[in-house]
Amino acid sequence: MAEKICVAVRVRPSISEESPSGTFWKIEDNRISLHKLHGTPISGLSYAFDHVFDESCSNSKVYELLTKDVIHAAVDGFNGTAFAYGQTSSGKTYTMNGSLNDPGIIHRAVNDVFQKIQMISDREFLIRVSYMEIYNEEINDLFTVENQKLPIHESLERGIFVAGLREEIVNNAEQVIKLLESGEVNRHFGETNMNARSSRSHTIFRMVIESKGIDTGSGDYSSSDAIRVSILNLVDLAGSERIAKTGAGGVRLKEGKYINKSLMVLGNVINKLSNGAKQRAHIPYRDSKLTRILQTALGGNAKTSIICTVAPEEVHVEETKGTLQFASRAKRITNCAQVNEILTDAALLKRQQLEIEDLRRKLQGSRSEVLEQEILKLRNDMLKYELEREKLEMELEEERRSHKEREQCIRDQQLKIENLSSLVSDGDRSSSQDSMKESLKDECNDFKTPCFKETSNNAFVAKRSNYSELPDFSPLPDSFSNVADEDTWFKMNKGYIADLDALQTTPARKVQSFPPQDITPDCSNDNYKLELQNLKTQLELVIKEKVELQRKHEEEVQINSRLMGEICELKQELDLSNNSSESSKQRYGNLETEFQKLKEERDSLLQTVSESSKNITFLTDQKENILKDLNCEVQRRKDLEVEIKQFSVAFASRQRSLASIHGEFKSKIEKLRAENLVRY
Ligand code: ADP
Ligand code: MG
Repeated sequence: MAEKICVAVRVRPSISEESPSGTFWKIEDNRISLHKLHGTPISGLSYAFDHVFDESCSNSKVYELLTKDVIHAAVDGFNGTAFAYGQTSSGKTYTMNGSLNDPGIIHRAVNDVFQKIQMISDREFLIRVSYMEIYNEEINDLFTVENQKLPIHESLERGIFVAGLREEIVNNAEQVIKLLESGEVNRHFGETNMNARSSRSHTIFRMVIESKGIDTGSGDYSSSDAIRVSILNLVDLAGSERIAKTGAGGVRLKEGKYINKSLMVLGNVINKLSNGAKQRAHIPYRDSKLTRILQTALGGNAKTSIICTVAPEEVHVEETKGTLQFASRAKRITNCAQVNEILTDAALLKRQQLEIEDLRRKLQGSRSEVLEQEILKLRNDMLKYELEREKLEMELEEERRSHKEREQCIRDQQLKIENLSSLVSDGDRSSSQDSMKESLKDECNDFKTPCFKETSNNAFVAKRSNYSELPDFSPLPDSFSNVADEDTWFKMNKGYIADLDALQTTPARKVQSFPPQDITPDCSNDNYKLELQNLKTQLELVIKEKVELQRKHEEEVQINSRLMGEICELKQELDLSNNSSESSKQRYGNLETEFQKLKEERDSLLQTVSESSKNITFLTDQKENILKDLNCEVQRRKDLEVEIKQFSVAFASRQRSLASIHGEFKSKIEKLRAENLVRY
């Protein structure tokens, strides 16, 4: 849903004792107007905003009314940004950082975030913070002093991000506050004029809030799988005025004007956004580091609030008008914020999920606090490794690119030399002399400063630090068309010129622990000596570093040659073992074939055996059958023999009885015959 950027104006208490002589700013509800001293308002100079805070208003009220909603929304997954815009000394840092008695927006936001997430029991959170500064269009890491001039990168997964920026995973508000304090110390390290730096630089404190629904074990995995990632930016902008020509220690800068590119482009972006949707395609976010980093906060997917701080003194009227006009334009911008839910592995929370689960199991013991510390440490280590890897990849890429460029340069030079020599050999000497001189001059220039064009096109550095060895001039961009022209800037800020040395600004708390640096602008000789001393110590340091580096280099060369030797030995060993492995391979092959043969033989034997055993079984069966038959036959024969015996006995007795019958018959017949004979 489209919603307007929330814009408030805050008037700080007056610093000067002088009472106004002509005009004063009057605040009624949410309106601020310039009035003549005796009451009548000046027409055309009355502005209304979401809130107008007068000089008695506390940081706590500003936070409650302007920023709290943005912070709470960030915990719920919406991107959020809070800016402080205004001239130097108008109270930006006071609003963002606050004082000991009345903490500023950053501290309140940090506390609030942790308080809020404690109350949300059905989600788990992972919070990481980073702190950076944009100074002279260079991004420096305020958590790690060595991380300077960091590039902005863009990737599908992470969107626009500052590559190599240290991020720290944090568990509670106290950790964040400590980190912020160390960041402040880093920021001012080595500065002789803190006001100059803080009024020319933007600081961005960033919290990335990732959260994930706690798996309740209901099996509804998809809903708890999505991770919300929101980015919260709290920004203390550079002073919106044109900076005086007074630099550190009262040294007058040589440049006629100082233009803060990021701030100018911010003005431009806000101008274009406030003109409505039509122009949105041409918003020059890419023209400055600040607008690039904060792109989503301006006309994009974020909830944004801007607090414009103004000074009430009459001397600042023009600058205050400029700030109020900026605020009015900002009020017309609409954003379209939505909860950022993702399902990819881009979320750190997801990537660390397994580890967390593992550790949570361990956490269920009594040493929960110690283990919690352990988790935090592990998580931070992991994050560091990731960032380190990212940085190395970047450096490699950079190295490759510059290598290519160097090669191209060499090729170009060769081509030119060839051209030149052909010119010399071919030419009519007298007529070509002038042109040759001309081209030689060109070549010399090209040769001497092969990269100059590139840097001068991109550079937008007005004045480097006092110790910088770079030329003390301010190369302005060749074309202002894609930036903002100075007239716009002038109109916006009406040419107020701040004297930085005379300004009072909110001190950074920890900085007080540094020994006070005695700056006496009048005593330039002392300053010079001090600076000379500084330079000397720096030189000594550099020499020491050089010696150290040389020593390290030698050591590395030695280690390198030793390693090379070891590698050679290993190679030889490898060759040897390769050879022996070759012969054993062959032997193995032979054995394998033999084994194969034996196997086949064994198989065929087994088959024969099984066949013969089958035969044997068959034969045994047959034999048994035959035996059975034989037994039967034997039995039958025995039976028959018995029968025969019985029969022959019976036969013999029959024979005898027949013989006796025969004898009887015979005797009877003879008897009969004899009888017959008698009769006859
Ligand atoms: P800026 O960051 O805009 O340059 P500072 O925040 O440093 O300005 O404010 C300048 C001076 O005014 C500081 O001394 C600061 O303490 C004081 N100041 C600014 N705003 C307030 C305020 N609302 N109440 C009290 N003191 C303020
Ligand atoms: Mg400040």
